[in-house]
Amino acid sequence: MSSIRFKALEETLNRKPIQVETPAGGVVAYFGENVFGRDAMRQFLTEDAYNSVMAAIEKSERIDRKMADQIASGMKAWAVSKGASHYTHWFQPLTGATAEKHDAFFEPIDGGKAIERFAGSMLVQQEPDASSFPNGGIRNTFEARGYTAWDSSSPAFIIGDTLCIPTIFVSYTGEALDYKTPLIRALHALDKAAVDVCQYFDKNVTKVIATLGWEQEYFLVDEALHNARPDLAHTGRSLFGASPAKGQQLEDHYFGSIPDRITQFMRDLEIESHKLGIPIKTRHNEVAPNQFECAPVFEEINIAVDHNQLLMDIMEKVSRRHNFRVLLHEKPFAGVNGSGKHNNWSLATNTGKNLLSPGKTPKTNLMFLTFFVNSIKAFHDNADLLRAAIASAGNDHRLGANEAPPAIMSVFLGTQLSAILDEVEEKVKSGKMTTDEKTALKLNVGKIPDILLDNTDRNRTSPFAFTGNKFEFRAVGSSANCSGSMTVLNTVMTDQLIQFKKDVDALIAKGKEKDEAIFQVLRNYIVASKRIRFEGNGYGEEWVKEAKKRGLNNFKTTPEALEAYMRKEFVEMFVRHNVLSEREQHARYEICLEMYVKKIQIEARVMGDMAISHILPTALAYQNTLIKNVQGLKDVLGAVAVKKAGASQIEMITEISERINAIKQNVDAMIEARKKANNIEDMKKKADAYCNKVKPYFDVIRDHVDKLEALVDDELWPLPKYRELMFTK
Ligand code: ADP
Ligand code: MG
Repeated sequence: MSSIRFKALEETLNRKPIQVETPAGGVVAYFGENVFGRDAMRQFLTEDAYNSVMAAIEKSERIDRKMADQIASGMKAWAVSKGASHYTHWFQPLTGATAEKHDAFFEPIDGGKAIERFAGSMLVQQEPDASSFPNGGIRNTFEARGYTAWDSSSPAFIIGDTLCIPTIFVSYTGEALDYKTPLIRALHALDKAAVDVCQYFDKNVTKVIATLGWEQEYFLVDEALHNARPDLAHTGRSLFGASPAKGQQLEDHYFGSIPDRITQFMRDLEIESHKLGIPIKTRHNEVAPNQFECAPVFEEINIAVDHNQLLMDIMEKVSRRHNFRVLLHEKPFAGVNGSGKHNNWSLATNTGKNLLSPGKTPKTNLMFLTFFVNSIKAFHDNADLLRAAIASAGNDHRLGANEAPPAIMSVFLGTQLSAILDEVEEKVKSGKMTTDEKTALKLNVGKIPDILLDNTDRNRTSPFAFTGNKFEFRAVGSSANCSGSMTVLNTVMTDQLIQFKKDVDALIAKGKEKDEAIFQVLRNYIVASKRIRFEGNGYGEEWVKEAKKRGLNNFKTTPEALEAYMRKEFVEMFVRHNVLSEREQHARYEICLEMYVKKIQIEARVMGDMAISHILPTALAYQNTLIKNVQGLKDVLGAVAVKKAGASQIEMITEISERINAIKQNVDAMIEARKKANNIEDMKKKADAYCNKVKPYFDVIRDHVDKLEALVDDELWPLPKYRELMFTK
């Protein structure tokens, strides 16, 4: 009898929902109460200090030392009034998680006393002992120190007793060691490029921000069951597990009613999120059992990313309060839908216009069409780079696995907009257009309905889908930091918009009228990017063939996909817009490869250990029971009769034997392959070895183990089974 599994199951069955009370006054009363936002700043800062923070946020102005002291003092007063005793710089190193190091506000003074102190210098800059974070060689070569520096555009907040200050993380030489730094640089570049293009249409536009609304998918698993599975505990996904008889085939979980234990968790999560100003708005079940999603109202990207990182942290904490563990892995369970993080992306102007939302007049629609077509062109020209941006060991299980968007990058537009682009392609002449032709075209563009939010015209199989007033980058992994893909998307858009302006201006210089020049350039882009457009089923085999014909790449694994990061044209583009230097890019490439290697390495180790020390002893024990049974039969019936009477048992003994041997041999071979891979110096070759020489054993070993699971006495099986992990009563 396997005690751990059954104890865990018993614990699970006895759980009662932990009731959560909504704080007094409702959400209006507590929304943002733990954030040093505008209200708190007004109350705790001098007018000068307040204005200087606002100028830093709105105009990226520098905050001087004296002002920083004042701000720090106000921030501390606010934090202490809320019971905080510590502060930390909160940053996003390239591990993908967030990092913090807590320091107390107090400082000892003469006479054995202490005062509370938090100077501007402590707010503005810190030197965390963060030498263990990945740096891709940047810090080994020259200078080991890393610095965190205050990002005043994202508000400070309190978690528990700690004031958290969002910061960037850079090396002594100013090179980015985190996700935030290049994102901020890309957003800066995009602002300028987009404003320049807006000037063709509206002189009042002086600032363009990118917006992001993420949708976070996740699984919940009972804590006791989670702890009884070393694979979940150490790798975030199950490395073994036979498919349950009742899986997601019935799809009754989707939009179904949510068990009370889970509802209480969600309510708690929402309250905690709202206190931190994260505008979580929707929650629902996902396709798989015990899979859920939550989504906020969209925000400016830098804030949205911080909020997503924060949400993932809070989920972890809140889930423990409810005796759950949250699984953010892209593929926790084989044979069951994985999790993604859809990144809804758009651009907004200071005049309150969403640039990817059709307008009411031909003029605003031409502006919409401009940003729309440029987005498609940017995606087309840089598809491989966008594929690289979403590559990870976890996401490899999703992309191209008939559930998530395929590994082939394509864009979905919907029938109406496809028709409009076809029309522009057809009607815009490369020579001079007559006045009538121009008028007709503008009229047609004017007919783009300002509401395109037609839910029936949605394609859930496309990695990059237009959904009426934004693009939805659906291929991002659930555990990813959104910055990775958003930095790339905003950089390629910047590059594209700058090119667009050059192309239009060149035609104007040749004497073309402005609108005609714009139409002409857009037409060229529509033609040039046509092959990236795909309206059909992205999951089908047909598309794989069709994409190949069109010359679109289909990078199925991370090491393959990441190579694009080092392609000359892409490296130059990042440098051109001051988003990442060549050295920073190289470092990032190395880090991504290293992360991949580590993930597969850990999975291989855990898999080997579990197979040898959990599965084999169980299989042997059951086999012994069967052997005893056959021996007993032989004693009673005699050697001849037992061949017939014990035939099934003998068959089972044989199968168990074969599988035990196969498991042992494959684990040994996998360990050998790992040893070889570990001896490779070159990180790309090492990642290739892990991908092509180590990982293939996973499926083989797993298959034997899962067959044993179905064969061995349920009472003996040591690991909680899929049906137990995935259903909460
Ligand atoms: P669904 O895609 O599930 O139908 P919605 O279209 O309502 O849901 O929105 C999904 C996400 O897209 C939400 O997080 C929402 O805030 C976000 N979103 C809506 N408009 C924009 C926009 N202009 N920019 C960025 N994100 C947006
Ligand atoms: Mg959506």
